[in-house]
Amino acid sequence: MTDCIFCKIIKKEIPASVVYEDKNTLAFLDINPVNPGHTLVISKKHFETLEEATEDSLVDIIKTVKKLIKPIDKALNPVGINIALSNKPGAGQVVPHMHFHIMPRFKGDGHELFEGKKASPETLKQVADKIKSLL
Ligand code: AMP
Ligand code: ZN
Repeated sequence: MTDCIFCKIIKKEIPASVVYEDKNTLAFLDINPVNPGHTLVISKKHFETLEEATEDSLVDIIKTVKKLIKPIDKALNPVGINIALSNKPGAGQVVPHMHFHIMPRFKGDGHELFEGKKASPETLKQVADKIKSLL
């Protein structure tokens, strides 16, 4: 896609701090890291969302995510690593080229995860049944 910033990084039209590249995927540091080592992993094929991605591409991307976990862990010595994907603008996706975030976590870094609220078994069943009926 011509005006996609991540496609431009793939084509080397704009610079990026690339940490890994293979035939189908690219990983580079986020320019606005939530913590040191915050890395983005993308497919070299352009698709906006997870549901638009091919299964083969998803396998390639997740393999690259896995490949990077140990090196990032060794390089930065975090206490843990969050892996996240914001799917669609309503979920916070800003760049419309699907990407996984690899975010090293450090003690006292101040970041918090989503807070859950207890749901009743009836509510859980109702939601699960609805999803299952649409598979
Ligand atoms: P998201 O909100 O999931 O779409 O995340 C997009 C991420 O891309 C943000 O964390 C940005 O800081 C990052 N980003 C945007 N432009 C660039 C760029 N040129 N190089 C590296 N990271 C970028
Ligand atoms: Zn793109």
